[in-house]
Amino acid sequence: MTAVPNNSIELVTILGTGPAGLTAAIYAARANLRPLCIEGEQPGGQLTITSDVENFPGFPEPVMGPVLMDNFRRQAERFGTRIIQGIVKKADLSKRPFVLEFADGQSIKTRSLIIATGASAKWIGIPSERTLRGKGVSACATCDGFFFRNLDVAVVGGGDTALEEANFLTRFAKTVTIIHRRDKFRASKAMQEKVQKNSKIRFVWDSAVQEILGEHAVTGVRLLNLKTNETQDLALHGVFVAIGHEPNTGPFREQLKSTESGYLITEPDSTRTNIPGVFAAGDVADHVYRQAVTAAGRGCMAAIDAEHFLEDES
Ligand code: NAP
Repeated sequence: MTAVPNNSIELVTILGTGPAGLTAAIYAARANLRPLCIEGEQPGGQLTITSDVENFPGFPEPVMGPVLMDNFRRQAERFGTRIIQGIVKKADLSKRPFVLEFADGQSIKTRSLIIATGASAKWIGIPSERTLRGKGVSACATCDGFFFRNLDVAVVGGGDTALEEANFLTRFAKTVTIIHRRDKFRASKAMQEKVQKNSKIRFVWDSAVQEILGEHAVTGVRLLNLKTNETQDLALHGVFVAIGHEPNTGPFREQLKSTESGYLITEPDSTRTNIPGVFAAGDVADHVYRQAVTAAGRGCMAAIDAEHFLEDES
């Protein structure tokens, strides 16, 4: 980890060390821009809490998410990327160089900025989910699945993430119940077939989690059937929430154009945002594809866009 002097003026600063951020770093470093990459709360991004990655091109055999991200990182560092840890609390994008202020009071200036801060798991929003988080409630099967050996757990959601998590949890749990608010999954057909074939997986349709039961640990869930309005309690030891993600736009939200759900908007066929010199790549600006490979592709584009911007500016 490199220390960066307070008040340094950088050519390219990249926020985020997921596939988008580190690919941007590889390309910017190879263009001799000496990028500074800022690692936030989840170094390596969402792939570090994933088990086997089976769809990243170039890996005919499954590769563990953390291993893949470590490869990205070493490749970025090999070409001179400096990686530091820091949480950006404030950003002034009103004039160049832009100013980024960190939680520890340090600040840096940068002539261009690539935002690759990714997205974070969404929560249902009920109080019991908060009080029981870490006591049986989780949003990461890869991180916490191991604790539910031979126990009954539920996964909430009907997308690819929920079904993938459910499948993964069957490695440990006795049963996995997928609770979905509709009677049709949003997940891909392949993923649906996989869960249908898994004898440990059960399904509860048309239902919302009204409350997670338990005082010091999860003992069950109270479900509301959205069609019949009836409630039922289900005894469980763990609840995995997998209902999608929201973009980490933090201190940029007010200054950059975003969609209604908060994803940064970039120009068509480019990673340019509405502020010249600020680029966005990966899940923070993508609510559609959200794949490691698409994030990496956008990271590459962002580095090239930043390079062109700096050339035109000088
Ligand atoms: P998603 O596709 O947005 O699915 C979210 C699911 O959660 C939906 O089924 C949604 O229900 C449900 N949901 C949302 N808010 C809810 C709430 N408040 N209460 C209860 N349920 C709620 O999100 P995702 O599964 O995280 O996937 C995101 C993207 O990543 C997708 O494009 C997906 O294909 C991709 N992905 C791919 C892979 C893979 O290829 N291996 C793995 C994971 C994710 P409704 O269906 O009713 O809206």
